[in-house]
Amino acid sequence: MRDKDQFDVAVIGGGPAGISAAIWACDLGLSTALIEGRDQLGGQLTRVHNAIRNYPGRFADSGNELRDFFVESLSRFNADVLINSSVERVDLLEKKISLAGGRVINASAIVIATGVRRRKLNVAGEVEFVGKGILESGVKQKEECRGKRVVIVGGGDAALENAVILSEYAESIHLVHRRDAFAARGEFVEKAERDPKVEMHLRAEVAAIEGREKVESVTIKERMTGVSKRLEADAVLVRIGVEANSSLVRGQVATDDEGYIIVDSECRTNLPGIFASGDVANPVSPTVSTAAGMGATAAKAAYDLIYGS
Ligand SMILES: Cc1cc2nc3c(=O)[nH]c(=O)nc-3n(C[C@H](O)[C@H](O)[C@H](O)COP(=O)(O)OP(=O)(O)OC[C@H]3O[C@@H](n4cnc5c(N)ncnc54)[C@H](O)[C@@H]3O)c2cc1C
Repeated sequence: MRDKDQFDVAVIGGGPAGISAAIWACDLGLSTALIEGRDQLGGQLTRVHNAIRNYPGRFADSGNELRDFFVESLSRFNADVLINSSVERVDLLEKKISLAGGRVINASAIVIATGVRRRKLNVAGEVEFVGKGILESGVKQKEECRGKRVVIVGGGDAALENAVILSEYAESIHLVHRRDAFAARGEFVEKAERDPKVEMHLRAEVAAIEGREKVESVTIKERMTGVSKRLEADAVLVRIGVEANSSLVRGQVATDDEGYIIVDSECRTNLPGIFASGDVANPVSPTVSTAAGMGATAAKAAYDLIYGS
């Protein structure tokens, strides 16, 4: 009988890339563990509150709907799905994965599919006011913004799209961006620029988020002059991009300067038997389709490695 902690393939991360890798590995007859730190599978899909219309397998009204579809597909296979199982340490040479709580998983191949997380401002008040004015999602919390003064930080699609959406609800929107120009799609930039409720603050950084019980103001600082300005605010939405969840393996496996894991066209890293899939290895086109495709690619490459074809 197989040792319950020994697998052909161990997949770290239960988002679209990890689920796809697990489905493919099982379908190829490999014993497979899918390890997820949170209490549910789905990764970023659980944070998508609008429709996902560009995944060819399914048009979904929300990320959770697509997640449920993925989980249902996975349930047809016999992967060992370990949720609430954060990976605390991994030895990529020994292929040993240590979970919170002490369990150690061994595998012949490992697929790292740990995705990305939202970048933080790292300023005073950012952590303190979570749930007290710091918004988690503009779309989900738009009603809470009715009649409020909202500060949105960032210059990409997520920041500008939220400015356009929340302008229908908010009394005013301050858009704070550290660069000279926005990186967002033209349609969002044009809409935001035409909107009388949206005030732009380019070349400015957030210095602090202040208040007593909840957010009351945001201090921004002009980057060129160093001059500070206080914006009265009830709510703050930070959308300044994402960073790869690769700290677990940094120093063991090759990454680029931003921490994204470097892979070849078969999702192989520089270490034998170690693969990476999805957003953690894809700074260029982080999408559900790409993540699912890379998961499949890694599982097939793992099969070739184990069975030597
Ligand atoms: C608001 C929003 C809207 C989006 N809209 C679209 C869209 O319309 N179309 C589209 O194609 N894409 C969209 N995306 C992007 C898409 O969701 C991602 O590209 C996709 O989820 C990436 O999948 P992944 O599996 O690589 O990573 P993730 O979804 O980030 O999953 C990674 C998983 O790894 C787990 N993990 C991390 N570290 C550990 C650890 N140490 N131990 C155990 N588990 C760990 C995490 O908890 C997470 O569940 C959107 C994303 C967001 C946030």
